[in-house]
Amino acid sequence: MTNSLGVLKQMLAVVLQSPCLLCDRATAHLLCPSCTRQLRQCQLPANAWIENNGISLFVWGDYGGTLKRAIATLKYNNHPQLAQPLGQWLAQAWLASTPHPPPLVVVPIPMHPDKQKQRGFNQAELLADSFCRYTRLPLQRRGLVRIRSTQAQFSLSLAARETNLADAFDLGTAFQQHPPTQAVLLLDDIYTTGTTARAAAQP
Ligand SMILES: [Zn+2]
Repeated sequence: MTNSLGVLKQMLAVVLQSPCLLCDRATAHLLCPSCTRQLRQCQLPANAWIENNGISLFVWGDYGGTLKRAIATLKYNNHPQLAQPLGQWLAQAWLASTPHPPPLVVVPIPMHPDKQKQRGFNQAELLADSFCRYTRLPLQRRGLVRIRSTQAQFSLSLAARETNLADAFDLGTAFQQHPPTQAVLLLDDIYTTGTTARAAAQP
């Protein structure tokens, strides 16, 4: 009896394994231990608050190496489930470095509805979902809307980035009806020059 239970457990363990989303090695989780370790090595030192052109930024990691690959896999290879661990790690880092945060509401940077329909999800919203589950901060998915379709920012010069995003955002129905009384924490998957954050802060 004990023996057959052991065999059953072994069989289940084999059945429950699936390919790691980044390297295809069999694993019982989304990511194998090796990729998880490499990803966690992308994390910046604990207190990752950065001032950039008047914007206070909280950053989890450097956009490169395994982290860049994980975000690309999430967005372009249709693996939205990767937002769960990434949002959780962001939340852990946030809780460790911001033990007494001011009252905040979290708003994901929105995608244009056409683009979101094409992709099937907004990665910033999924990351915010996971982040808020662990930090217990309130989430307002419809705080902002993207009213203009824009080109991918990475392909543009700094000046072109600002023109590209001019008037791209507006208040969403939630904030139009009830403007936020607390500070707003904008959440996005990537921060480069801050043009998106500045445009989103101004609608
Ligand atoms: Zn792996």
